[in-house]
Amino acid sequence: MIASHLIVPADIAVKWSDIAGLDSVIQDLRESVVLPVRHRDLFKESKLWQAPKGVLLHGPPGCGKTLIAKATAKEAGMRFINLDVAILTDKWYGESQKLASAVFSLAAKIQPCIIFVDEIDSFLRARNSNDHEATAMMKTQFMMLWDGLSTDPHSAVIVMGATNRPQDLDKAIVRRMPAQFHISLPSESQRIDILKLILATEEIDRDVDYNRLAKLTNGFSGSDLREMCRNASVYRMRQFMRASNTNNASSTTDINKALLSITMDDLL
Ligand code: ATP
Repeated sequence: MIASHLIVPADIAVKWSDIAGLDSVIQDLRESVVLPVRHRDLFKESKLWQAPKGVLLHGPPGCGKTLIAKATAKEAGMRFINLDVAILTDKWYGESQKLASAVFSLAAKIQPCIIFVDEIDSFLRARNSNDHEATAMMKTQFMMLWDGLSTDPHSAVIVMGATNRPQDLDKAIVRRMPAQFHISLPSESQRIDILKLILATEEIDRDVDYNRLAKLTNGFSGSDLREMCRNASVYRMRQFMRASNTNNASSTTDINKALLSITMDDLL
């Protein structure tokens, strides 16, 4: 049951090339995680040539943290365990503790492996006096299991956490994640790259004004841009159906042009 709930099969679909505008984060992760994991036999004895046991991705929602985590696993040839914090913080704490140890031992068995904890702050936030005793025990146990990874020099298990609220994390957790990356809302030029990537598989007029679209979408996340393009695609289909019903020989290209200008009008 654990396996079917938590493991994304080895053939994760996300690759670096599915992510736009985050080249420097990708480059850092390639050097700090992908190469040491892929070539871990090369310098077995080296303590410096080792991937960190903890990586933190932080930044606003919808900006690609989960994408980055999955693509890192894919490019490093690692398995991916998506640890659902809701299960760990379930009221049946006894079971949750068993689950935490099961996850770590499973990760060790199938390594190289990333244990991905989305919204890690909701589970490992700074301890306070209001913490339920079982919650405090759970955190301590999680940290012990995590520390166990460092005692095995050949372990290729990494805990990768993602959060929108890094300031809420327990300092002890932050220390366990020496590699930290901020993934911010995309800048104008990053939005151009993301839009080009999202629209790459669509039949789009060559004259699409990516610069204008990017200017109009200040404050949009990658996820917002994707949703905007999806709405535009639905609009295009509606227009196409309407044109077909009225025997109007409108070309796909023209419809694309219209849909993008409508999208822009919506934003104004
Ligand atoms: P959350 O904090 O809400 O979990 P997140 O930062 O993990 O969000 P993702 O789930 O990785 O965000 O991104 C959501 C979707 O937005 C992706 O599946 C993808 O379609 C799109 N997206 C976001 N950022 C990018 C990007 N840089 N390049 C391409 N697509 C992106």
